[in-house]
Amino acid sequence: MLIGFRELLEERRAKGAAAGAFTCYTLTTAVGVLRAAEREGAPVILLVSEASYAPPEGGLLLAALGAAAERASAPACVQLDHVADRATIARALRDGADAVLADGSRLPYEENVALVRDARELAKPGAGVEAELGHVEGGEDVVAAVGAGKLTDPAEAARYVEETGADCLAVSIGNVHGHYAAPPLLDWPRLERIRELVDVPLSLHGASGLPDADLRRAVAAGTPRRRSTDSTGATSGGANAPPYGARMRMKASTNVSGSGRLASAQATSATNAATRASPSALILSESSVER
Ligand SMILES: [Zn+2]
Repeated sequence: MLIGFRELLEERRAKGAAAGAFTCYTLTTAVGVLRAAEREGAPVILLVSEASYAPPEGGLLLAALGAAAERASAPACVQLDHVADRATIARALRDGADAVLADGSRLPYEENVALVRDARELAKPGAGVEAELGHVEGGEDVVAAVGAGKLTDPAEAARYVEETGADCLAVSIGNVHGHYAAPPLLDWPRLERIRELVDVPLSLHGASGLPDADLRRAVAAGTPRRRSTDSTGATSGGANAPPYGARMRMKASTNVSGSGRLASAQATSATNAATRASPSALILSESSVER
């Protein structure tokens, strides 16, 4: 069933749970991802890359994914991923995308802010806008090893979210799209600082190469510690700590093949990691798809 991007995030926040998102180049892949979400009982975000959406048939793909989401028993929505062009953002919203990632991460700060503000304006009413500060290197469409891009500055991130009105913030903490040129070295203190200062769900792109331990740690780091002290004086983490628990949305990723059955199996594995790695954070999983 269709669910709004923002509603999906709120639902996850309330449950202190996580969500996954997967790039879908074909309807077959999308159906595989939706079947996995149904099996896992988890909501899911179907991502359309700009390269898939740019051709004249792009609107058809977006509509097809929306139709598949509508017919699924799992809550799902469709997001146009990484786009810096205002006309494309406007077109996708008209075509029924429920959310866009207005990606100004390659632009100077002020231009980045202006792009996201414009997208926020275009997305009225109801649609969601994700934004990116710092830059996550590589791309979902490119299976190549790259080094980390410019890291997200926590204080700047807080100001950025305030100025843009973004619903969700993609962060750069050493994560890259696709494969990692070297074993990933995520900047955990930076992630924790961002989470402390930023009050919207966070999104970690490009977890394709991240080991499960890092995924779990990333999800846990998205969860502010719940300072609940029991009778023994011990302080416990926030397994039942909404509304704090879901302030962070992460993007994990997996390689999802174009074959529906394989895509489904791989999406199940990623959704599992995303939703169960921690009971109290959000994860948004993103795939780099092998066609
Ligand atoms: Zn991405």
